[in-house]
Amino acid sequence: MKCPIVTGDAELNDANKAKAIKTADYMEAGEDAEYKCENCAAFVQTDEMQGCLENGIAKGMEDEAEDMGYCAQLDFVCSEDMVCKKWLGQQAKGKGGIVIKIAGMMDDD
Ligand code: SF4
Repeated sequence: MKCPIVTGDAELNDANKAKAIKTADYMEAGEDAEYKCENCAAFVQTDEMQGCLENGIAKGMEDEAEDMGYCAQLDFVCSEDMVCKKWLGQQAKGKGGIVIKIAGMMDDD
C-alpha cells in the first residue's frame, strides 16, 4: 500500500484538518457517542496505515498513533474519538469500508 501523502506531511495534514473543521464540523464525538471516526466507513486504521503514521507524522509518538487513523473521505489524519458531519456509516473499527476497498488501502487479510 502506498501511504497517503498527509501521513508524512504535517503541514498538508494540518491544512486538510483545518478544512475538515471548517467544512464538516470535525470535533470531539463525546464519550458515549454512537457515531465516531472509529466506526466511520472512511476511517482506515489498518496495520499498514499505522506503519505509515509511525514512520511519518507520528514518528516517536507511538502511544498517540494508536488512536489515529486516516480519513479517506477528507484526506487527513483523524482520531478515533472524533467525528464530523460527513460520517459515512457503520463499520468494524478501523477496517475501512467500501471507499477504502476501492482505494486499495485494505490490508491483505
Ligand atoms: S468522514 Fe468519518 S473518518 Fe472522516 S472525519 Fe468524518 S467521521 Fe471521521
